[in-house]
Amino acid sequence: MAERAFDIVINGGGMVGLALALALRPSGLRVAVVEARGAADWSAGRMDNRVSSLTLASQRMLQRLGVWSTLASARVSPFEAIHAWDAGGGRVRFHAGELGEPWLGHIVENGLLQQTLFAVASADDRLTVLAPATIAAASPDDAGQVQLRLEDGRRLSTRLLVGADGARSAVRDWAGIGVRRHGYGQQGLVATVRFAQAHGLVARQRFLPGGPLALLPLADGRCSIVWSQPDDEAANRLAMDDAAFHRQLEAAAGEVLGVVQQSESRAGFPLRALHAERYVSPGFALVGDAAHVIHPLAGQGVNLGFLDAAALAQLIGEAAAAGRDPVGLATLRRYERWRRGDNALMQTTMDGFHWLFSNRDPLRRMARNIGFELTDRLPPIKRRLMAHAVGLRGDLPMIAR
Ligand SMILES: Cc1cc2nc3c(=O)[nH]c(=O)nc-3n(C[C@H](O)[C@H](O)[C@H](O)COP(=O)(O)OP(=O)(O)OC[C@H]3O[C@@H](n4cnc5c(N)ncnc54)[C@H](O)[C@@H]3O)c2cc1C
Repeated sequence: MAERAFDIVINGGGMVGLALALALRPSGLRVAVVEARGAADWSAGRMDNRVSSLTLASQRMLQRLGVWSTLASARVSPFEAIHAWDAGGGRVRFHAGELGEPWLGHIVENGLLQQTLFAVASADDRLTVLAPATIAAASPDDAGQVQLRLEDGRRLSTRLLVGADGARSAVRDWAGIGVRRHGYGQQGLVATVRFAQAHGLVARQRFLPGGPLALLPLADGRCSIVWSQPDDEAANRLAMDDAAFHRQLEAAAGEVLGVVQQSESRAGFPLRALHAERYVSPGFALVGDAAHVIHPLAGQGVNLGFLDAAALAQLIGEAAAAGRDPVGLATLRRYERWRRGDNALMQTTMDGFHWLFSNRDPLRRMARNIGFELTDRLPPIKRRLMAHAVGLRGDLPMIAR
């Protein structure tokens, strides 16, 4: 079978891999995406129980990639406020008006976002999307290429193989890149829930001793919940009937939105942290969850992945325009220097929050209540924190500014 040659092959057409492919279009390089699942696997008709809270930086990026208007006309819910409070007292409230913005972010179903990105990428003749397809083997050769064999026998060659293939990245293994990982002994229990009261375009998070419960607003008035909790509690709550689950959820939410009228698609995801020891090696680069997985308590995971994609595409484009090797090790190292420190800082911050919040320790409870109250009463600190969290500050790539 004839071999097809590319400059860049992206393994994994998830949210981050597809965003990277779209961001690489202006570079003029030959780019392919290999995705294990086919288009039919993402049904836009059904409400997805996996959602992402997108920052303003991610929104701007998706606007420039030409996918935001399709998403916005489907099912995206903006939120104008964030209310966070501790079950033992102490609270902080953020409002978009404090930053002079209409919204603090948007809640988007992962399946819908993935399907929209997939449709735009598949329709663009500057990109090759191979799906469903899986790489069976990848090996660098002496000519500076990585030779790929797909499960169906097709052969590809590429100058750069990018791992956008999630936490269990095969590319990371082929590149010989190690990881540091730890578990939290928690699961993220997700479900789509209708409460008696409307969410009012507010994203809520209540910190409980077992872990935080997030109530994220959906476009149809329901909430998507992400309830981090110890593994054994999650196993019980996944097995119990709706009525019992609803009573426990109402109590966990502090009855902030009243009774639960209906819920569906309850599922649990083990929570863990992972960080690749390097993001690049000759012929290889990692983006998104292939490089870093963090606790979902601040809803930052995919947003970090989008910034990886934007940074890598920008550096590749700049190198190509300046006549340098766009996928050479110098470009790849620049990418690693740009993104690894920021991602490590976010991971450490999430671990710190987890340590501070997910327990009954009275001293830590006092510390977090003081922290909440101080943040709420000191507008400059509050604005700074908020601007960072929603993607208005930081070392942002051009298309996310
Ligand atoms: C409970 C929970 C709640 C979360 N909430 C949020 C939130 O509110 N906001 C937020 O920003 N983040 C959130 N996250 C994190 C977010 O879901 C991830 O960061 C995000 O999905 C990572 O995207 P990705 O494209 O890097 O990887 P993935 O979503 O894992 O995509 C990887 C893709 O690669 C494909 N693939 C894998 N292996 C292969 C292979 N060998 N060959 C071909 N294709 C392959 C897969 O089919 C998939 O399409 C949450 C996570 C959890 C667990």
